[in-house]
Amino acid sequence: MAVSVTHITQISSESLLESLLADCRSFLPRCDEQLVRKAFHFCVEAHKESVRASGEPYYTHPVEVARIVARDIALDDISVAAALLHDVIEDTDFTLQDIQAEFGSTIADIVDSVTKISGIAENQTITTAETYRKLLLSLIRDVRAILVKLADRLHNMRTIEALPPERRIQIARETLDIYAPFAHRLGLANLKWELEDLAFKVLNPEAYFSLAQALQESRVEREAYIQKVISPIERHLRQHGLRFEITGRPKNLYSIYQKTVVRGKPLEEIYDLFAIRIILDTEDSNECYFAYGLVTQLFTPIPERFKDFIAVPKKNGYRSLHTTVIGPEGRPVEIQIRTRSMHEIAERGVAAHFRYKAAQGVAPAWNDDPELEEWIQWVRELFEKRSREEAAQEFLESLPLNLYQDEIYVFTPKGELKRLPKGATPLDFAFAIHTEIGHHCIGAKVNGRIVPLTYKLQTGDQVEILTSKHQAPSRDWEHIVVTHKAKSYIRRYLNEQRRLKQQEGQQALEKRLRKLHLAVSDEELERVARALKYENRAALFYAIGIGTISPELVINLLRRDSSASPEASSSCLPSLEQVAEIARQQASGVEIVGTPTDGTPLLYSYARCCNPIPGDEIVGIITIGSGLRVHRQTCKTIQDMLQNNHPRLVPLRWGNVAGEEFIAALRITGDDRPGMLHDITKAIVACDRTNIRSVNIDSYGGLFEGVVTLYVRNTEHLGRIIEKLRKIHGVHTVVRFESP
Ligand code: MN
Repeated sequence: MAVSVTHITQISSESLLESLLADCRSFLPRCDEQLVRKAFHFCVEAHKESVRASGEPYYTHPVEVARIVARDIALDDISVAAALLHDVIEDTDFTLQDIQAEFGSTIADIVDSVTKISGIAENQTITTAETYRKLLLSLIRDVRAILVKLADRLHNMRTIEALPPERRIQIARETLDIYAPFAHRLGLANLKWELEDLAFKVLNPEAYFSLAQALQESRVEREAYIQKVISPIERHLRQHGLRFEITGRPKNLYSIYQKTVVRGKPLEEIYDLFAIRIILDTEDSNECYFAYGLVTQLFTPIPERFKDFIAVPKKNGYRSLHTTVIGPEGRPVEIQIRTRSMHEIAERGVAAHFRYKAAQGVAPAWNDDPELEEWIQWVRELFEKRSREEAAQEFLESLPLNLYQDEIYVFTPKGELKRLPKGATPLDFAFAIHTEIGHHCIGAKVNGRIVPLTYKLQTGDQVEILTSKHQAPSRDWEHIVVTHKAKSYIRRYLNEQRRLKQQEGQQALEKRLRKLHLAVSDEELERVARALKYENRAALFYAIGIGTISPELVINLLRRDSSASPEASSSCLPSLEQVAEIARQQASGVEIVGTPTDGTPLLYSYARCCNPIPGDEIVGIITIGSGLRVHRQTCKTIQDMLQNNHPRLVPLRWGNVAGEEFIAALRITGDDRPGMLHDITKAIVACDRTNIRSVNIDSYGGLFEGVVTLYVRNTEHLGRIIEKLRKIHGVHTVVRFESP
């Protein structure tokens, strides 16, 4: 049994090859039959295991597609071979590399494009024709790929009965919305009509069949009428020596149906159901005008219906004269007049164009042919629609040779298509969906796998954004995104945050000032801001808002500013005493366990000169009235007492201080460069989320000196911060600040 089936397959496949070759011979200007044979056998071999929904061997489909390419598009043997191979990558074990090795990169490239269209466009539910078209164009590098794809679609439409109803409707919809208009724009009139009628039949079978029946019933009457118009024209033109063919064929059902719907008229009242076409056997386009003159001697033309597409061709290359004349019984009749070559282009569009070039002995060059450029120019016009929302400049910049390379097309989990510039990341995608999604984006899954936010999206990726309500844009994001939308939103958000922090800082300062019953003018604030190296008081408020400096420091400086002499105020570095005083207001007390104590609470305070923190070797001095004053053992003010083993000294050690924070100060020197203050505060905050109490920087002669006070847990914590600060570019010294 198996043997005989193979045998039957063999016979029918051989006869299919012969029909295909016959088509190639009669329609193609030139054909490398070896190439077509080779592609045919490769196709039959590759698909030998599978069958179509109709039960036929699968290879019958690519072969039929190849026949459509040969007959209805009639371009070249390359596109016929590509049509034979168009489903090999998708449906068989053979790879793109196999095709490349066997048939070269031109054919492989076309097959690759067609495969991508099938793989991406058809496995997603694409919501609008517009996006589908964009996607299609982004996947094509060779015009022939779209021609093969159109032929593929036509054959699928011809055999659509084998599919389940829902699938039929989806494919028909797509055909009507995308492929038929594409065929039209490419000038493939016959393909367009057939695609439309086949889709019409699926989508509205009732209207289709009743219209077909009505046309059938009125056929005899209609044909008789056409004859009444054609006969006199035929005689008249021949008398004047013209050689031509004249036909009167009805238009396709779908366009008639549209007319009945659009005009709201019954079929009987629509007279331009057919067009009479005169095809002149000449290369001289002047004869078209001559023929037009002769026709108007017989029938009165309607002047406003005259269209000269010879002098001004349509964008898809269509050339012809159109006129509507008043025929017998006063009915309007449309007449089209064109030469044979104009007719070929009208029927086969872009393909015929290249065919003529090939016939003239010029191989269709796809890259540097000026006439091809015209066609490509037209393809580019499609892109104008796409770029309408973009700045004209951006469009112009993206034009030249990277038509398909500048953009990527990606999908939402629901299959909605999003167009993004090349290099776009999941963050761009998130902002493209909704600013709120962008705002809270913490990551993304691409094709089901988690990727970093910096991942560069690829056409066809399906992207799912992961969000968290705690997430918010940060400065880094500006470098991750490429789209204008995302960039401007992130900037807007950061500016708004800055404004809020500034407001907080201002309110905090004003609250303290009110408590102290101090009135401060804007000028005074500006002066303090400048003294602290801030651009203006807004920047000062911001620094307070984010905790870089404290309101107390500002108040301190304001007081000093108003009371001190001009010389004194020229240096704005507060003394350690001032700094420590400020610190003391918020520092938490700790229990210090000294050797001589027996559990009785100890009255103590920290020495202002050295600000001890846990980890420091400490010593206490007994004072009159204020208990123990705690010093670091290294503190200069007590060195004499230590050496003399003064009786008022008490050895101390730290008790349990876990979780407590202590004030420490650092003196930093280095090069005064832009961004230095930012780098310093960033390094500190980044280290265990250390809180900065204040920062004061004074600069002179290209150098700066600054004092930073901060909250630390112990000496180890402080040591880590010092290490970080020393690594900053341009920082010379970082030392713990002690009194001189
Ligand atoms: Mn196919």
